[in-house]
Amino acid sequence: MHLIITEKNIAAERIARILADRSYVETRKEGGVSTYSFDGTTVVGLRGHVVEIDFEPGYTNWRSEQHRPRSLIDARTIKTPTDKKIVNLVQKLARRAERVTIATDFDTEGELIGKETYDLVRAVRKDVPVTRARFSAITPQEIRSAFGEPAELDFALAAAGEARQVIDLIWGASLTRFISLAARRGGRNILSVGRVQSPTLAMIVDREREIEAFQPEPYWVLSVDSERDDVDFSARHTTTRFSEREAAMAARDRTVAPLVVTESREGQKLDRAPTPFDTTGFIVAAGRVGFSAANAMRIAEDLYMHGFISYPRTDNTIYPASLDLDGTLKALEKTEFGKDIQWVRANRRPVPTRGKKSSTDHPPIHPAGAATRAELGEERWRLYELVVRRFLATLSPDARWTTRKVLFDAGGEPYTTTGSTLAEAGWRTVYPYSDAAEHELPPFSVGERLPVKNVRLEEKETQPPPRFTQSRLIQVMEELGLGTKSTRHEVIGKLVSRKYVEGNPLRPTLVGRAVIESLEEHADLITKPDMTTAIDRHMQEIKEKRRSRDEVIDESRVMLHRAFDDLEAHGDEIGRDIMGRTVEEQILGPCPVCGSDLRLHHIRSSQFIGCVNYPECRFNIGLPVTTWGFAVRTDDVCPEHGLAHVRLIAKGSRPWEIGCPLCHHITSNRETMALMPSMTPALIERLNGRHIYAVNEVAASEPETLAETAGVDTKTARRLKDEAEQVLSLLRLRSELRKFVRSHVPPRRGRSHAKIMKALFAKGIDTVEHLASADPELVRSTGIGEKEAAALLDAARGLLNDRRLRAMGIPAISLKKYYAAGFMSPEDLLRHPAPFLTLKTGISPDTVHRHMELVCEALGRPAPRRTTRVQLERGRAELLSIPGVGESTIEKLYSGGIFDARSLIEADPHTVAENSGLPVRRIMDFQAQASTPDEAAG
Ligand SMILES: [Zn+2]
Ligand SMILES: [Zn+2]
Repeated sequence: MHLIITEKNIAAERIARILADRSYVETRKEGGVSTYSFDGTTVVGLRGHVVEIDFEPGYTNWRSEQHRPRSLIDARTIKTPTDKKIVNLVQKLARRAERVTIATDFDTEGELIGKETYDLVRAVRKDVPVTRARFSAITPQEIRSAFGEPAELDFALAAAGEARQVIDLIWGASLTRFISLAARRGGRNILSVGRVQSPTLAMIVDREREIEAFQPEPYWVLSVDSERDDVDFSARHTTTRFSEREAAMAARDRTVAPLVVTESREGQKLDRAPTPFDTTGFIVAAGRVGFSAANAMRIAEDLYMHGFISYPRTDNTIYPASLDLDGTLKALEKTEFGKDIQWVRANRRPVPTRGKKSSTDHPPIHPAGAATRAELGEERWRLYELVVRRFLATLSPDARWTTRKVLFDAGGEPYTTTGSTLAEAGWRTVYPYSDAAEHELPPFSVGERLPVKNVRLEEKETQPPPRFTQSRLIQVMEELGLGTKSTRHEVIGKLVSRKYVEGNPLRPTLVGRAVIESLEEHADLITKPDMTTAIDRHMQEIKEKRRSRDEVIDESRVMLHRAFDDLEAHGDEIGRDIMGRTVEEQILGPCPVCGSDLRLHHIRSSQFIGCVNYPECRFNIGLPVTTWGFAVRTDDVCPEHGLAHVRLIAKGSRPWEIGCPLCHHITSNRETMALMPSMTPALIERLNGRHIYAVNEVAASEPETLAETAGVDTKTARRLKDEAEQVLSLLRLRSELRKFVRSHVPPRRGRSHAKIMKALFAKGIDTVEHLASADPELVRSTGIGEKEAAALLDAARGLLNDRRLRAMGIPAISLKKYYAAGFMSPEDLLRHPAPFLTLKTGISPDTVHRHMELVCEALGRPAPRRTTRVQLERGRAELLSIPGVGESTIEKLYSGGIFDARSLIEADPHTVAENSGLPVRRIMDFQAQASTPDEAAG
């Protein structure tokens, strides 16, 4: 069997279908992994890396004294399978294979995955031939030729990938641990540091500091408005920017009609057709049409996997001679682009455009197959169209603009205006993404005199450099050699998810800035691109077999040790520094009580606002638990309290705007304060003025202090305190009722629980007890349906009865048995004779009797007579000996209070009939037979 291993399942399926040609492809699933077989060939897809590199065991504890962060630099690394199912299947198939072809993606990462696969195969088969198939697009032509001329795995390229993997692990893990521990950050709040990530973040921080340090300078712009044959136009002074206001004003004052045309020059401008897409060029273009870098790459990969475009990770901007340009055009002929292709064919440039970078691995990104808008969906189509149009543009002639520059004189002041029109649209015919606009000028002739309608003097300011957009940052990273075509967009994504940067254009957060600035101070090396560029150079040397993998890794270990010398010497300082700066984003503003700062606190899932002056100042405001959203500060500030607004953010739902936390605190407590009978609006105002906002604060106050704060006498203060305590217990009961209703009445559109609760409280139903004895009609009037109201009342009664029975001392385990048999309340237990309860519940007669005693005692009733186990067993035998009495009759007799021959004979047949449901005649028959047992038996 010929085993082919691809990087992803979807590639496996497509490659199988291409190679099988017209043969039937059998799809099978083993342990959730698909295989595709035909004519003695089986294709299986990996899920990217199926093994992972990690430190050998013993390094998981961050706080280990023995293995401090620095020890990770020299820790040994091991490879472990991350996807056991696939690893097992690949090895199982390899055991049966006569030859193996590795068909992973064609780049460093793909070669490394190929090498990992090679190791897996070799582990079970020492001798099987292993070849490598390389292709840049999953199209029939590419795939057939790649498999027609199999090559060898490039071990040097894989070694370069491996070196990068190890170095990134060592750098990332040791530095992340060190910085996080120093700043006392753990769990979700760790501060990650990375070999490529940190210098990238440093660039963003740098730019932000440039913007902050920027001193805008004023300048003045002078222009005139005029017209020619009813067409308005304006011209600007040839001094583009006046730096002196006086000079600008003087020039303005000298500007007088007429505006005389002194010169009119016409020119031609060549507008070159764009070069083929490499990854960066593609990301930049996709950014212009609204795709983030990560999103653009995700979609591009998907288009590649489905054979619509060529491999999207490439540094190449020159089409290789082997690329069949005509074939590609022909393939697209039948798509929406048919007309564009006709145009390109008719106007085609002799050779396609070319960029500066040529690499041997992949061609530039180009279309690989025809697609329709319908099969791709809007998003994928937009990027596919971009790739197609770019390809067409690279085969199209340059565009040509006609430019005109006109010079004027007005009272001795020189003015100018320029215009341009597209003389030949060229490539712009098929590539409409650039925003170059035409600007047509009237046909001026020299010496012409025109009116001056208006002279405009505008004051402007110089602008700071712009923040980086994602695509601009990727370009700069590429220029500096930071990261690779495959990783750059992922690095930016990580910076965003780590909350180091936000927005687009990108802005550093306080945390991001704190981390970079303290690293800059103590271990500059980590934030500079130089080091990472050096490592990238070493990678290249490994690929070219000029250095070994281990040599390069060791060298980077030395560099890292040097960084740690500095870091460890200043660990405390770094920690204090970062903590000091990042606490800033938790500070909300002045504490209303003591004037120092209020800050947000997060402790596991609970969060609250407290005073930094704690415990001297105990002022605090509670917040909902984090399941409702993680509390963060926003940029808005309450004009009344000077506090930053608070927002709760939860994944996947809209943020909950709390607004000013103090305003929120006051309004949400005002209603409950009003529940106290002696509370008046004036009193609430007075208490709020003295920073008492909530009922629990009133309840917790000493009467004397409260009297003074509220300006009342001590007696009133005492009453207020009592009332506050009552309100608190009412609130507890109400909250219990709220929970109860919430768990029994499902929410529905237009019927929120808040609405129901409000209606219930308004009708005086504050507790589950109230609910149990409430009129069903009353409950229904709160918006609950008839059936639901009945069920809710039942449940409330059940809960209440359960509480009563427990309070009487009946253990939960017995209650469970009573409930299962349908005895739900104390009354139910007394309504039935003990033997019947025993029979139905399986609880022993003695225990049932004890329970009945407990219930009777609680209800002030006399206890029933006791029936022992022995009596019960003997009586049962007596009853069963009566002809016609079986198990089901016994149950009925028990419920009628009869448990032996004697109680049967003594009973009143009519009462028994009523309680048991047996006909009077039968009972009388039984009675007759029980009194003369011998006769009956005979
Ligand atoms: Zn305070
Ligand atoms: Zn406020």
